[in-house]
Amino acid sequence: MNESVNCLVCTRELWEDELGRYACRPCERRIGDTLAALAGPGGLYARLCLRIQPAAGNTGQTVSGSRSAPIPASLAVLDLTANGGLVSILEDWVTAWAGHGLATIGAGGRLQYRVDRAVATLRLNLPQAVLRYEPIADFATEIRRLHGQCQHLVNGAGPIEFLVQCGCGHTIRATLETPHTACRGCGQEYDKAALVQLPALGRAAA
Ligand SMILES: [Zn+2]
Ligand SMILES: [Zn+2]
Repeated sequence: MNESVNCLVCTRELWEDELGRYACRPCERRIGDTLAALAGPGGLYARLCLRIQPAAGNTGQTVSGSRSAPIPASLAVLDLTANGGLVSILEDWVTAWAGHGLATIGAGGRLQYRVDRAVATLRLNLPQAVLRYEPIADFATEIRRLHGQCQHLVNGAGPIEFLVQCGCGHTIRATLETPHTACRGCGQEYDKAALVQLPALGRAAA
């Protein structure tokens, strides 16, 4: 039970009928909405997974030769969508909540299934967690951060940019969505196939 008179998440003073809760009602609603937005076939996780598929479909374009490097995929997207990323962060919270009798730990399955199941058990137990789970603010912060990261990568980041080096030494910023790119140093034009033959300098900062 919260001894303080403030919501631990947004720090506003609790209403009289909220006293004893760790999080106020609007915060509970926000956390629930944030969780819900991550899961399901139209959720942020599923949409993030879609972003790596065009690159995965391009594996026929493997680059040969010693001076070339593979196309740097969006590491941020890969990190978040892979095992160990978003799914594992959610499951770690499920484990922590389960220790308080607030969640059911699932086992195995495809990544999307695991995301959906973790979100479902967290949402189901959220009304109890705001009453009994003191680190709810840490949970809220991490879920919000995850949500923000996903949303940025899904909506705000645009096509994934990467950097290659032209023969003239100039750095070219390119995306796999643009069919032709000209070097701003020497004017040389590259199509997609030629572009990926250039030495890679890494992924452009988002
Ligand atoms: Zn609050
Ligand atoms: Zn050039």
